[in-house]
Amino acid sequence: MASEFDIIRRHFARPVKRALLGVGDDCALFAPDPGEVLAVSTDMLVEGQHFLAGADAAKLGHKALAVNLSDLAAMGAAPRYATLALALPDADESWLAQFAQGLFGLAQAFGVELIGGDTTRGPRNISITVIGSVPPALALRRDGAKAGDEVWLSGCTGDAALALAHQQRRIRLGDAALAHCLARLDTPVPCIALGMALRGIASSAIDVSDGLVADLGHIAERSAVALELRYAQLPRSRALRACADESLVQHCLLAGGDDYELAFTASPDARARVEAVASELGLTLTRVGGVSAGGPGPVSVYDAGGNVMKIESRGFDHFGS
Ligand code: ADP
Ligand code: MG
Repeated sequence: MASEFDIIRRHFARPVKRALLGVGDDCALFAPDPGEVLAVSTDMLVEGQHFLAGADAAKLGHKALAVNLSDLAAMGAAPRYATLALALPDADESWLAQFAQGLFGLAQAFGVELIGGDTTRGPRNISITVIGSVPPALALRRDGAKAGDEVWLSGCTGDAALALAHQQRRIRLGDAALAHCLARLDTPVPCIALGMALRGIASSAIDVSDGLVADLGHIAERSAVALELRYAQLPRSRALRACADESLVQHCLLAGGDDYELAFTASPDARARVEAVASELGLTLTRVGGVSAGGPGPVSVYDAGGNVMKIESRGFDHFGS
């Protein structure tokens, strides 16, 4: 039976280049980038809550880091380091090897060094803390949206929730649509390059993890403004366009969550710069609404006729009813 130290040595101790000291001592050591501040964020994945027992270990390793990197993206920060707190029911070597493969695969793709953590026995639980770097004046905060700004969205929302609806047998997706939506759900790719490119362009930003309306609500609240979304302008994937259940489509687009796209605001003067970012990075950025000083609610969704839509589900809340 592998000891805690065997597990760490075999699976998580990797040489570091940027950090002064990585896994193996009481603390890791690293120097902040000159002139920049550190951006720090933690996200936890709990078995039974965020993933099912028996979930693919490599995908879990990828997703656990991806959801954390998505927060750095939303701050406009460059990823640097991560720590990993892991509770495991047993020392399953093949699970650990696959988990590490998924985690380090994404870490390498984004230049992240794993510099520490903690390993303990317990119900399966994966908590990652990421550390990024950003010039303080350029961090993309939630509190910078101004009346008159426009609301933008990267890519499209809804695919992960559509995969979930398939798994729950609410709908049946064809093979191609299912493969596309499952990849969005299981192995999301954080919008790091986009977040960094939006420094000095976006007035506020957030990553869409709990649902578009709920997450935009955080910008509205922190910026003390009202946001209007135009439902007909929301981009839809081919899989979502093929879905005939209109109420499910609405749920997926507005409240599904697990999207890990960036929603952001920018002044109309910045429109050309936003469009230039989209073409440089080869991704879709869509204007989906606007910002006003006050509205019917913090976030209102308008239909094509200009009427406020009644939204049934607003987003995911672990302690919500
Ligand atoms: P301590 O008792 O001082 O907290 P540990 O025995 O918990 O030290 O950990 C030994 C070293 O291994 C530390 O450098 C710690 O950061 C690192 N470590 C422990 N678990 C993990 C893990 N899951 N991933 C990465 N590093 C880890
Ligand atoms: Mg410890």
